[in-house]
Amino acid sequence: MYEIKSTSLLKEVMKNYFLELDKGNRKIAWCTSVGPAELLRSFGFEVYFPENHGALLGASRTADNYIPVAQKCGFSNQICSYTTSDIGSFLSNETPLTKHYGIKSVPKPDLLVYCTNQCREVEDWFSFYADHFKCPIVGIHPPRYLDEISGEEINLVVAQLKKLVSVCEQVSGTSFDLDKFKEVLKLSKEATLLWQKVLKTSTATPAPISFFDGTIHMGPIVVLRGTQQAMDYYTALLAELEENVKTGKGFLEKESRRIFWDGMPIWGKLRLLSNVFSKDNAAVVASTYCNSWIFDDFDENNPFTSSALAYTEIFINRSEKAKMEFFRKWISEYRIDGVIFHDAKTCFNNSNSRFGMPLRLKQSLGIPTLIVEGDLNDSRFFSEGQTVSKIEAFIEQLENQKISI
Ligand code: SF4
Repeated sequence: MYEIKSTSLLKEVMKNYFLELDKGNRKIAWCTSVGPAELLRSFGFEVYFPENHGALLGASRTADNYIPVAQKCGFSNQICSYTTSDIGSFLSNETPLTKHYGIKSVPKPDLLVYCTNQCREVEDWFSFYADHFKCPIVGIHPPRYLDEISGEEINLVVAQLKKLVSVCEQVSGTSFDLDKFKEVLKLSKEATLLWQKVLKTSTATPAPISFFDGTIHMGPIVVLRGTQQAMDYYTALLAELEENVKTGKGFLEKESRRIFWDGMPIWGKLRLLSNVFSKDNAAVVASTYCNSWIFDDFDENNPFTSSALAYTEIFINRSEKAKMEFFRKWISEYRIDGVIFHDAKTCFNNSNSRFGMPLRLKQSLGIPTLIVEGDLNDSRFFSEGQTVSKIEAFIEQLENQKISI
């Protein structure tokens, strides 16, 4: 059976990250998953990411217990189920970190920093904690939905990042150190490029890492960006996957069709879905989600401008037209036969099927597409029978197309 051996190292890296946070030796900044973690780390903050906690709640299938708790406090169960399950678990005084690492609770923040380059929900989510902990909160608001990004827009974000500097100085009690910021950004860039290479190993046939594996192995690029640990981890993972490409080892023995997954993972159903695809030799080789943590424009010689650019130009923050270009590139690079769009009911921000994208892709590239309904964390919105049947029929359609070509 195929397994990625670096998984044991991954578990070690993630465990050490959480245990270090739990020691409480350093000031802690909470940050959104595509927020300016490098700047925070340059002040010596440990950085904690509530979205990662949301994903843990989903993957451990405990999110459903907590969503109603947040609902009682006024959060609709139609909004981001990371937000509602995370707040609900906090109010219930429970966390999957206890079972995994023996940690009683999530770390207390000294500073909260969110970036609305992914959605406005993070502002409300973090504001709840700012009120609760009476803690300083700073928002970065990059311009959204742009086709092209101009210098003017980048300057706006640079100004916001510079405002964040003075708050970080106050909270950390440390003066800003440009060299330190450059150093952290360089580490982050190196890790992000390694992560990109990891994902691109699956341009090979057979592909050595699936979308489902990617959702697990992306842990360090989310929570440890800007550290040596992230770099070391992706160096090891890449070496293993490149070796597998060389020796022709893929996650499927026989890869018949190559599929792209758009949108959020359905965290509680990763294994089930992975099996649905693999039993029919369909390889899910790439995704918008795993590609979201590639910041190849970071440049330590120009740390503020390049951070502003990298965090503004990401896929989720862009116009439909710009997203279409991302899709074109990925579809050709990974030689994709079909695209599955996950319409996540509580995250319209990361559901790209609602404004005609599947149809446009079909019309312009002739690529078959399928929309599946579900959610990242809220299982009420996922029907197993219906989704499995839809995916099986889609794979069959791709197979028939192959035969008729
Ligand atoms: S992008 Fe979606 S899943 Fe992520 S925090 Fe925003 S609403 Fe929630």
